[in-house]
Amino acid sequence: MKSINPYTGTLLKEFQEHTDQEVEKAIQQGQQAYLKWRNIPLSERCELMKKAGKVLRNNQDKYAKIISLEMGKVITESKAEVEKCAWVCEYYAEKADEFLSDEPIDLPDQKKAKVVYNPLGVILAVMPWNFPFWQVFRFAAPNLTAGNTGLLKHASNVPQCALAIEEVFTEAGFPKSVFQTLLIGSDKVENVIDHPHVKAVTLTGSEKAGQKIASQAGKHIKKTVLELGGSDPFIVLKDADIEEAAKVAAKGRMINFGQSCIAAKRFIIEGPVYDAFIEAFKSHIASYSQGDPLDENAGYACMARPDLAEELYKQVKSSIDKGAEVILEGMEPEEGKAFFKPYILGNLTPEMPAYKEELFGPVASVFKVKDENEAISLANDSDFGLGSALWTKDPEKADRLSRQIESGAVFINSMVASNPHLPFGGIKNSGYGRELAENGIKEFMNIKTVYVG
Ligand code: NAP
Repeated sequence: MKSINPYTGTLLKEFQEHTDQEVEKAIQQGQQAYLKWRNIPLSERCELMKKAGKVLRNNQDKYAKIISLEMGKVITESKAEVEKCAWVCEYYAEKADEFLSDEPIDLPDQKKAKVVYNPLGVILAVMPWNFPFWQVFRFAAPNLTAGNTGLLKHASNVPQCALAIEEVFTEAGFPKSVFQTLLIGSDKVENVIDHPHVKAVTLTGSEKAGQKIASQAGKHIKKTVLELGGSDPFIVLKDADIEEAAKVAAKGRMINFGQSCIAAKRFIIEGPVYDAFIEAFKSHIASYSQGDPLDENAGYACMARPDLAEELYKQVKSSIDKGAEVILEGMEPEEGKAFFKPYILGNLTPEMPAYKEELFGPVASVFKVKDENEAISLANDSDFGLGSALWTKDPEKADRLSRQIESGAVFINSMVASNPHLPFGGIKNSGYGRELAENGIKEFMNIKTVYVG
């Protein structure tokens, strides 16, 4: 398993994949750890999670550097990612008691009943490289606090991040094997899902991986949470603050160099403000400067791998060949290199990749619509349903239209962002289940009814 700096192409480190025997041992250890961990008082588990937050804060620069070197994110964003992980640890350390306390139920016949929350056991987390710390912590913080144990199968291009996350929990003083990293390729995931000690699976990744993992888990009636792709609409109505919308739209598209599931990807603009929005949007996108991922002033560096740049360009090229208008010209990536430049494409029709597919990088698809009805129906004309943004100054309109958008979240006059306090997840091909907030900590719990006769 190779850790390669995508900016320079240099090999940073190489790791031996875990053997089948090592994986079996880790699963057994995870199960043994679970049997003890679930009986440790919640207050002690919360204390340890708070310490994990401290370890992250104390080592923010070290972990941020690993992220930037391994997947090309600019250092300012890597630091913010580590900080956010500390936040989610602290959030669940503080709130778990409230979320998981017993819930008495009033029965009409004066009998007593309550709901109690029990952990399930060893949970497998299959995670992507794009937010290599944050995606893992938003699984680990609620689940470990709740008494489950975790097995991480991280993306193959971020093994250093995977091992560093295991180190965070070890340094915080978590008992051995409560959280373990498996260095395995995707071809080994099936066997882990099949294992009787593994009780559930969460995946953040592509639709293809989601289909594979959910069907394998389905064979064993094991629960899954799927956080898959997105092609989020960013709707700007004619009464919006256009300058602010354009600035935030650019940020929403450029965050993590566009490699975010909740990045704004389809910009749907009402006719009368289309030209003004495009002019401002284009100038904001063009103002992002490229540089080394470790440079504090760089707006972006490169894609996380050369094949991702190549794949994205293919989608752009195919759209242009089919008649898309190039509003902002990017570049064709050099073979074997991860460099890319932002594109804005307009005049899009349904047969073009830029209309229908997820563009996992800095390419914005823009659409001009005649009114709000057309905006909503275009927003919903997607296989995905993760996040969405709606810009209008009219609160009544915002409330009414937000109910019509098919997505797991609507952000009004803002860009979509994950936050420990807010449930996160999608509908349609963006997956199912929720992470974060109270909903997130209950996904992998046995919601047990206790009735006293
Ligand atoms: P990916 O190829 O699906 O990889 C994600 C993880 O799944 C990696 O650990 C990968 O392992 C593993 N994997 C891939 N194919 C698998 C299979 N057939 N069986 C078992 N495991 C498999 O996704 P990606 O291209 O790296 O990540 C980008 C995608 O993730 C985008 O679609 C993005 O929108 C989505 N995403 C969603 C969210 C969300 O919260 N909804 C957040 C971030 C990203 P290997 O690396 O070893 O192949």
